[in-house]
Amino acid sequence: MPDYMFLLESRLSPEQRAAMLRVQELAAVLGFNVYLTGGTVRDLITGANLRDLDFTVEGNPSKMARELEKGGAKVLSEDEKLRQVELLFAGDVEGSISAARDEHYVRPGTRPEIRWSTIMEDLRRRDFSLNAIAISLNPASRGLLLDPTNGLSDIEHGEVRALSIHSFTNQPVRLLRALRLAARMGFKLESRTQEWFNLAIERELQLTITPEDAGEEVRSLSREERPQLILKEWEEGDLLELVHPILAKKHPGYDAINRLIKVRDDLYMAGFRPRLATPMLLAIFGRLKDRELSNTLSKLGYRSAEIEAIEKFPEKAMEIQKELAGKKTKTPIDAYRYIEKIPMEYVAYLLAESSNSAALSKLKAFLHKWRPVRQALPIVATELEALGMPRGPKFDQIVQDVFAIQLNGRAKTLEERVKILRKLSGIKEPPKKKEKEKKPAKAEKHVETAAEKKAAAVEKHATHERHKAGMKAAAAKHKAKK
Ligand code: ATP
Ligand code: MG
Repeated sequence: MPDYMFLLESRLSPEQRAAMLRVQELAAVLGFNVYLTGGTVRDLITGANLRDLDFTVEGNPSKMARELEKGGAKVLSEDEKLRQVELLFAGDVEGSISAARDEHYVRPGTRPEIRWSTIMEDLRRRDFSLNAIAISLNPASRGLLLDPTNGLSDIEHGEVRALSIHSFTNQPVRLLRALRLAARMGFKLESRTQEWFNLAIERELQLTITPEDAGEEVRSLSREERPQLILKEWEEGDLLELVHPILAKKHPGYDAINRLIKVRDDLYMAGFRPRLATPMLLAIFGRLKDRELSNTLSKLGYRSAEIEAIEKFPEKAMEIQKELAGKKTKTPIDAYRYIEKIPMEYVAYLLAESSNSAALSKLKAFLHKWRPVRQALPIVATELEALGMPRGPKFDQIVQDVFAIQLNGRAKTLEERVKILRKLSGIKEPPKKKEKEKKPAKAEKHVETAAEKKAAAVEKHATHERHKAGMKAAAAKHKAKK
């Protein structure tokens, strides 16, 4: 059996690891058993991006939420009836903590009765086997995999398998979920699941999906990496109607989605991982008129503040575009300072949708030229230090001045930079030894000063770092191509 704890620790970001340790710690203090569950474990096993951390505790997570809030985490939503909390941990880590529960259906398709339960019962009431795996985070069994419905084997076979014959009857929204998961992962429905699926469609259970449930699916869709694959599946299965008849009639904005995905891949390569739910939603519903969009979102259970923010998004992007084409961002350094403060989702939206060449060229320069220069700025600081300048406000100012000069395409070589650094700092070159003092006959050997030695070492390090960055970029490009 692979060591899941090792896998987990090597796959989590440092911020995610810190969040997990905090949850583990709190659960131990309260005496609750705690597990990683759901999408987190699935994505961990399949090697997919770990977007969020889903925890399940055998107990009520509300106390944990209060403690986490004290430590700076933000509670995004809390469902007291379901004992479920959505959180944003420090470092922008998304996650949820839910109480382990069983769902008892008196008759298939009725509202289930909820009973607080053990982790095993909780796993068995889930939708698909690949979502019903847990990893223990408890001291005595840390890293142990709990897989009561054999989800691991379904993952190996590339299949989405529903856990009961009543699965779709009990929750028709699982029809959308099944297709979404299968399309996302490149899996197929397991044969019996496919039969149950077809039977449900024959009985028109899809028409009983509540708009709120469909809305949750749309929210998830807008966070997907490749929503176009899912939309195509929904469209083929005549399920798009359920999201909204107008969307089915006018079709999703596939071109806009593809443009945004291309931009997102470009942003990944430049080292950004923006959340693109709003621009993606706008791309998906791009063919709807403003009024149609707000009506659709409202029907799907989006809150009015959310709808307003979505509707205003393009306007705000146009304001940014105007600034980028205007005088205030004329010089590269002014443009850089402006762009670094714009939320990345607007950058992505403009790169995908704008046709303003002035704005576009600045955004592209920011990502591919200016940011790499900014990232190499610590090297300039070391070079300045090597010349003998003590760190402090004046030192920082000089580094910033060099940055502005570099954005204009100058100070690329060490020699040029040292010259500029000397000029800005007023540190003179050490006096050269007079020719005649040198011993005549012997081969000329240049004796490096301490500052030169340090500068040479710094340049060597910088070259190495640039080489590493180049390799990383090439690897990312290679991966993205794959
Ligand atoms: P994503 O990567 O989209 O977040 P996820 O599997 O984590 O995928 P969530 O909607 O966050 O999806 O749900 C978390 C877990 O809750 C799922 O993995 C699944 O085990 C369970 N779950 C969600 N919706 C249902 C449902 N309708 N019926 C049964 N179990 C569900
Ligand atoms: Mg999740």
